[in-house]
Amino acid sequence: MGDVAIRRVLVTGGAGFIGSHLCERLLDDGCSVLCYDNLLTGSMDNIQHLLGHPAFDFEHYDVTQYLYVPGDLDAVLHFASPASPADFERLPIQILKVGSLGTHKALGLAKAKGARFLLASTSECYGDPEVNPQHEGYWGNVNPIGIRGVYDEAKRFAEAMTMAYHRHHQVDVRIVRIFNTFGPRMQLNDGRAIPNFMRQAIRGEPLTVFGDGAQTRSFCYVDDLVEGILRLLRCDHVGPVNIGNPNEMTLLEMAQTILSVTGSASGIEYRELPPDDPKVRRPDISLAQRVLDAWAPTVSVEDGLRRTADYFKGALG
Ligand code: UDP
Repeated sequence: MGDVAIRRVLVTGGAGFIGSHLCERLLDDGCSVLCYDNLLTGSMDNIQHLLGHPAFDFEHYDVTQYLYVPGDLDAVLHFASPASPADFERLPIQILKVGSLGTHKALGLAKAKGARFLLASTSECYGDPEVNPQHEGYWGNVNPIGIRGVYDEAKRFAEAMTMAYHRHHQVDVRIVRIFNTFGPRMQLNDGRAIPNFMRQAIRGEPLTVFGDGAQTRSFCYVDDLVEGILRLLRCDHVGPVNIGNPNEMTLLEMAQTILSVTGSASGIEYRELPPDDPKVRRPDISLAQRVLDAWAPTVSVEDGLRRTADYFKGALG
């Protein structure tokens, strides 16, 4: 199963941060790529450089609608969804719809085409975790009616739907649980910690640390994530696999690292912690290492932040 040739691929959300990096890597690997995106949080700027590529096609498409794709498809990669906590309050219904209706449509398409299906799931499935690091067998601690519930439960539903299509319709599925990821093409104003701190550091404004900054995250550079996802697409393992960098740090440490990488003299300003903000997060990547040919992150947080800072400096003008 693992060696099925993957030649023509649909990436939903292909104009987003992670989606656009995936499209680029798939093209480099010799695939034909269809990119469907409604540009709600994605951007044409992210794929402008791919538009002239003979094996790349973009469609402005809302994937919660019936999904029509002409011709054969070998894989459907479902990456469409707003994903920043700031979006959870701004776009709650759209998030629930793309995680539920969008996943259903993308699975139906994969079934009709006999294509492999890969779901972009999330560490948010673990909610505010009571075990650290999180392994795939942990069922999570999610507040279904909280502000983050719209994303967490949409992705949990998406995982359930994916496994149901696998068990009931024999669709060949893969699920990646993506932990915090950063790099060029993150939206400058999406409200997440790294874009906020980068923008603030570059402009000489105070870095807004929520709470006391003791909450932890583990940040993975986007190229490492994409490598892990492509290995997962081509391997045999059905069921969720964590992909992320286990290098856990507090948010205050992240703010200080960004100040040092950008050489900024900005200070730190403490703000209220949003409700249900996970106190810790760190992936257990032992399953990924076992099934993905010893995959492990290779880019240090500092190197990744330097590359990201170059992008932000360019984008902020
Ligand atoms: N955060 C922060 N300042 C900001 C934005 C976020 O301190 O300007 C915190 C947020 O409360 C959380 C962590 O940074 O504890 C990571 O937040 P992010 O929005 O990047 O993603 P999350 O991991 O919460 O999905």
